[in-house]
Parts: sequence; structure tokens; C-alpha cells
Amino acid sequence: MKDGNRVLVAGAGPVGLVAANTLADAGVPVTVFEAEPQLPENLRASTFHPPTLDMLAKFGAAQRLIEMGLKAPRLQYRDRAGWTAEFDFGAIADLTAHPFRVQCEQYKLNGILAERLTRFPHAQIEFASPVVDVAQDGAHVFVTVDESAGKRVVTGGWLIGADGGRSRVREALGIPLEGFTWPERFLVASTPFEFVNVIPNLCDVSYFADPEEWFFLLRVPGLWRAMFPTRAEEQEADILSDAVVERRLQRIWARPERYEVRHRTLYSVHQRVAEAYRKGRAFLAGDAAHLNNPLGGMGMNGGIHDAVNLAEKLTGVLRGDADESELDRYERQRRPIALEYVNTITIANKRNLEARDPGEQRTWRETLTRTANDPALAREYVIRVSMIASLRKAAAIG
Ligand SMILES: Cc1cc2nc3c(=O)[nH]c(=O)nc-3n(C[C@H](O)[C@H](O)[C@H](O)COP(=O)(O)OP(=O)(O)OC[C@H]3O[C@@H](n4cnc5c(N)ncnc54)[C@H](O)[C@@H]3O)c2cc1C
Repeated sequence: MKDGNRVLVAGAGPVGLVAANTLADAGVPVTVFEAEPQLPENLRASTFHPPTLDMLAKFGAAQRLIEMGLKAPRLQYRDRAGWTAEFDFGAIADLTAHPFRVQCEQYKLNGILAERLTRFPHAQIEFASPVVDVAQDGAHVFVTVDESAGKRVVTGGWLIGADGGRSRVREALGIPLEGFTWPERFLVASTPFEFVNVIPNLCDVSYFADPEEWFFLLRVPGLWRAMFPTRAEEQEADILSDAVVERRLQRIWARPERYEVRHRTLYSVHQRVAEAYRKGRAFLAGDAAHLNNPLGGMGMNGGIHDAVNLAEKLTGVLRGDADESELDRYERQRRPIALEYVNTITIANKRNLEARDPGEQRTWRETLTRTANDPALAREYVIRVSMIASLRKAAAIG
């Protein structure tokens, strides 16, 4: 394939690296520019949904994630009074080769995908190379990269902006990120304490509704990650202090000893979607295109689904199998998913967990109990939360 059509990718996160691997597999020349000097190892997403694992399997990455992480075949909603509603991914075993979630840190996926890319002579990753500007004409994109030796302009055929929530590509293209930011931030604290030994029948993924302070427990190998909302007026230093983290963990399970805390992170939570996913020869994907709250684990997963959709369409156009207008379908198919599907589910998850009104709480619990106890409804529910429904919805858009 002609090198003048090289696809440039800003960002070596899961989205940029999935796009680059999909393109490299198809023989498309691709260069990824990563701002950091090496792959960042920060604690962020840790949930891989079944259809995402199906996509990653073609890179050999699903099996590696299973080996490095753990399989979570069930998902649970609970309250402090002992109510539970449980869903089993076995209900969709006929629809996926991976009827479970895998809990594994996203940076491990990045490592697998970056290493895999080095096998292809037509693919590269350039580290310490932040993209700072973007220009284009009818046939090329011109990406300015700010390296230690100075600024350099790289010419390519197409650009994928997968440079995360603060995307410079999005800014350079002048595309607004519409939506809102929640007033409260979320705290994630991880501890090796085995909650499963003290909370009866606890699943590896468990959401606890509580009008005072909901929380979410998620197990990764050797650790439990606990997520809590914070109050808008709380100061960052207080939230992250030993005393306040301890108080929140003690509310999950009161014990005489202190909890050992391995990581703590506080982050802002947004519900925002870019006004456009394409401008000429440049595209946005992943967090650069959409941000949502993490209840449902849909951010990275949805971003990977964007990356596969876009990379396959670019491959079709570069091979001459499809007209360039095919690329407009990327936005038509993927933007409504971020707006109507991911936003709706993640906002509903938050509202249901924090509901204060007793009537609202009761209705939510009764609905979930009925859904969990009816095999047909439970299957539909699992199809939705595993994001299979979102992929079907996108595929149906012409
Ligand atoms: C605490 C937390 C928990 C989360 N949990 C989940 C979960 O369970 N499930 C889920 O699906 N999602 C979750 N998310 C969201 C998930 O982490 C993101 O959706 C995901 O990282 C998006 O991937 P990305 O590749 O689009 O962006 P990123 O992972 O942000 O990667 C962007 C990359 O671009 C690089 N970069 C930035 N600017 C430039 C530039 N100008 N030029 C070149 N490179 C640049 C960055 O260094 C980075 O490597 C969570 C997020 C947080 C913060």
C-alpha cells in the first residue's frame, strides 16, 4: 500500500493501539505518536466486556488478558440491607466466545499491543512525540510533532486523534466537546483486603446502592478496587488523606484493623461527546471523542469499538474496496452510541445507585429483581450491559 497514504495516530492508549494493530494487520502503513517517553502505567480502566474480548482475540490479546487478569462471569447489584440482583454472562454464551468480563488493568493491554506492533515493518510508535498541531488539504494531513530536537511536520493520508480526554487533535480541529461535568469527583482506592471472605456471596463486580454514599467493588488480581463518590465541597487533600480513605473503606466493611491501601486516585467525571467525529481527513476516537462516568465500564470498551470500526473503514478505502464517503458512516454509527447508549446507561447507573427517594429505590430494586429472575429479560439485560446491543445498533446504521 502507498506510504503517502500512511495513517497517523495521535496517542498510544488502548484506542490508538487497537486502531494501529487493525491497520497494520491489513498491511496499511501506520505511525503512532505518543506524548510520553514510554507507555504510561496508570491505574484506569480494568474491565473488558465480552465483545471487546472477541475483537482483541484476533491480536492474541484476549487470552493474554485472561492470563494476567481474572474472569468475572457474574455481575451483582446489592444494598446494605442484603438485597442482591445477580446476572450471569453465561446467558450470552451463544453470542460471544467470551461469556464473562475480564478484570485486568488497561496498561497491560497497551503493553501487549505496542509490543505486537513492532513486528510490522510498516508500523511504528514514536515516543516523546506529542502532536501539537494539525493541518490538512484535500489529499493529506500535516501533523506537527514537538520532539526534543524541535518541531517536525509529518505528512500522512489520514489522522486518528486517539489522544485522550484532553485531546490536542480535537482542539486543533476546533471540535467542541459538548455535555457536562458532574460536580462531584470519584475516588478509587485499592486494597488487598479480601472482601470476598467477609461479604457473603460477593461477586468480582458488585455495585452497592446507598442513599448516603454508594460504592462499587471490583476485583483485579491481588486487589479490590473500591470506587466512591465524593461531595463537591470536599477538598482534594482531604479526600486523599489516610483518614478519609480509611473512613470510606470502613463503611464497606467495618473492621478493627486499618485497611492497607495500595493506590488512591481522585478524578473528575464527565458526560461529554464531541460535536463531530470527522473533519476532512482527521477523525476522533475513544476518550478524544467521548467521556462518560465509569459506572458500567464503557469508556475504554466503547473506544476500542470505535477504533475497530474506523480502522476497518479506512482499510476498505485505502484498498480501493470502498468510496471515501464510507468514512462518514463511522460518525453516523459511533456517535449515537456515545450519546444515546453509553451516556444513558452510565447516567442511569449513577442515579440508581445514589437514589435518595425510597419509592425510587424500591422501583429500581423491584425492576432489577424481576429482570434477574426472568431468563429472557436477564439475557436482554446482559446483552445491553456487555455492549453487544450497542454494536448491533451501530451495525444497523447505514
Ligand atoms: C479511574 C478510571 C477508571 C476507569 N474505568 C474504566 C472501566 O472499568 N472500563 C472502561 O471501559 N473505561 C474505564 N475508564 C475510562 C478509560 O480509562 C478510558 O476510556 C480509556 O483510557 C480511553 O482510551 P484512549 O486510548 O481513548 O485514551 P487514553 O487511555 O487517555 O490514551 C491517550 C494516549 O494519548 C497520549 N497523548 C495525550 N496527548 C497527546 C498528544 N498531544 N500527542 C500524542 N499523544 C498524546 C497519552 O499519553 C495517552 O497515552 C476509566 C477511567 C478512569 C480515569
